[in-house]
Amino acid sequence: MDRALAFVGIGSNQGDPVSIVREAITCLDHIPDSEVTKYSPLYQSEPVSDIPQDDYVNAVAGIKTSLPPATLLLELQSIEDAFYRRRDPALKWAPRTLDLDIVLYGNQMIDDNHLTVPHREMANRLFVLQPLLDITGDINIPGLGSLQALIDRAPTIEMSKIDA
Ligand code: ATP
Ligand code: CA
Ligand code: CA
Repeated sequence: MDRALAFVGIGSNQGDPVSIVREAITCLDHIPDSEVTKYSPLYQSEPVSDIPQDDYVNAVAGIKTSLPPATLLLELQSIEDAFYRRRDPALKWAPRTLDLDIVLYGNQMIDDNHLTVPHREMANRLFVLQPLLDITGDINIPGLGSLQALIDRAPTIEMSKIDA
């Protein structure tokens, strides 16, 4: 079966974000018909939000998958749900402990009600662009051009690699 290489953006800023991001990478590898081929270092980044909150831990994982994009999104959402439940049932309506976004799916450009790929905000988010560059090198992003050029133009944020 044809397999696409997709890239998933991972973010967490509640609970134990470093452990959550690491566990999430394992969960990604367990998605049916999919395997994680590489993943970036973990980064700590300042939140890009008006709401005061803790720093984020971010990473990007490359995943070879034969699932179509909409099915992959459902799998990501079920992993997110599993993390909310496991941490604390009382946190049901609290801000998320884990966010998984499809950053890229092969060279596809998708724009429907449920899914926009490349991710709509990626050009503005160094915490996605830098870890992606770490695992892919400079690549062409469909509709957006060179990844390195996007990084050069992205708004600056405070961000540092977390020592493994
Ligand atoms: P942002 O999209 O700005 O990163 P968020 O991740 O906090 O915000 P969510 O509440 O996690 O937003 O997702 C809202 C909806 O975004 C999801 O229900 C999903 O249908 C939609 N969506 C659109 N494109 C994507 C994508 N590339 N990856 C993940 N979700 C997407
Ligand atoms: Ca997101
Ligand atoms: Ca999301």
